[in-house]
Amino acid sequence: MASGTLTIDLDAIAANWRALDRMSGADVQTAAVVKADAYGLGASRVARALAQAGARRFFVAQAEEGAAVRQALGPGPQIAVLSGHMAGDTEMIHDLDLTPMLNSLEQITRHLESLPGHPFGVQLDTGMNRLGVEMLEWQAVAPILVEAGPELLMSHLACADDPDHPMNAAQLKTFHAMTDGTGLPRSLAATGGILLGPRYHFDLTRPGVGLYGGLPHQAAIPVVTLSLPVIQTREVAVGEAVGYGCTWVAERPSVIATVAGGYADGLLRSLSGQAQLWDGDTPCPLVGRVSMDLITVDVTDLPEVPRALDILGPNQGVDALADMAGSIGYEILTALGPRYTRRYQERRA
Ligand SMILES: *Cc1c(COP(=O)(O)O)cnc(C)c1O
Repeated sequence: MASGTLTIDLDAIAANWRALDRMSGADVQTAAVVKADAYGLGASRVARALAQAGARRFFVAQAEEGAAVRQALGPGPQIAVLSGHMAGDTEMIHDLDLTPMLNSLEQITRHLESLPGHPFGVQLDTGMNRLGVEMLEWQAVAPILVEAGPELLMSHLACADDPDHPMNAAQLKTFHAMTDGTGLPRSLAATGGILLGPRYHFDLTRPGVGLYGGLPHQAAIPVVTLSLPVIQTREVAVGEAVGYGCTWVAERPSVIATVAGGYADGLLRSLSGQAQLWDGDTPCPLVGRVSMDLITVDVTDLPEVPRALDILGPNQGVDALADMAGSIGYEILTALGPRYTRRYQERRA
């Protein structure tokens, strides 16, 4: 078998959700963001594990993603769609009982006309300028819309991973200005916002990356292990090069392992010459370029060539690997490719 094995610890995901849930008051609900196939880890299995842990509200980016989550959860739990009510989505929103977070006057009109009485929320722009109804538009429609009973008024923080950034307080103030007095449930915080403290929690929090072991959730339990099989080993003499572009040249007699996994599997090409793989607790440098299906690793110092090497695990989490690639944990997770054999760990029967 030449495919890598991606092990996903569902108990760790559940524990991370509980930990984030405990950080807010008892009257604050903790949802779970499972967009992009639960950050690449498998929306069905992850959503079910989170529902067992107690999550009752889930967020996806697109209505299409809601289908797998609804199938996994059955009727009951709310599935909110962050991109709102797009043209062509009406039937899906109705049939799967999705709750669109309406982002614009156009979406508000579309929703109220095509699905009157169907649950919805409203996303407000408090300064990120990405999604959401802006202040002036909101002032115009709020009286009518509040009457229609949105399930949630939400907004998103642009700089929550940096607690000292003045944008946090500015967005908090704008969110208050837009929503105070409506009496409606409110949500501002994703993982970063939860860590900013109770003033940012309102009625509902929406953690994503912190469930999957990524920063800014420092205390998160690691969730993924990625083990890549060694396909071939060779001895390389001093002066011989390895890989595309011959970017690495042996300076000592070396043993090079060719390992299954490449940029087609989400091992970013910017990891070339930067990353390490692990044999248990022993690091081995990735040498030469990452290619589409393969990487090459210097295993000269190992007493014995193992059957597989880990690129994600207890010694090197998603954020450590992201640092080596000049990226962020979110990108490492969501890039994890479809070729890996996914194994789910769950202690509970
Ligand atoms: C992705 C996303 C989240 C989750 O963010 P994390 O930083 O992963 O916790 C929450 N809300 C919105 C609007 C998002 O787009």
